[in-house]
Amino acid sequence: MKCPVCHASYRPPAVLCRRCGADLSPLIQVRDQAVWHHRQAIQRLEAGQYAEAIAQNDQAISLHHQQAEFHALAGQLWALQGMFDRAIVCWQTAQALDSQSLTTGACLDILMQLRNSD
Ligand SMILES: [Zn+2]
Repeated sequence: MKCPVCHASYRPPAVLCRRCGADLSPLIQVRDQAVWHHRQAIQRLEAGQYAEAIAQNDQAISLHHQQAEFHALAGQLWALQGMFDRAIVCWQTAQALDSQSLTTGACLDILMQLRNSD
């Protein structure tokens, strides 16, 4: 994550930017909330509740749009429901945010497996 004031990168649990000293705790709270929704989405996915999983993951994305893993999971959820066009859009967003993302690669693998099994 980056400080919105000076764009220095920082790592939790630090709540003050090491460069400019800005209080980052509100930002960290929002991000933690987004991660919580993302984890809920994964639990719903594992339970086969795709609609609930998408709703939870959408919450995560609306709180913290820049997280590649959230978009990768969205892509996975659409793909599992056979909606490959939407899945690819999500996956491309994830890739644009983090070209090194392993989750993104895993998502693409799933897409390909599903396509090949048709
Ligand atoms: Zn800063």
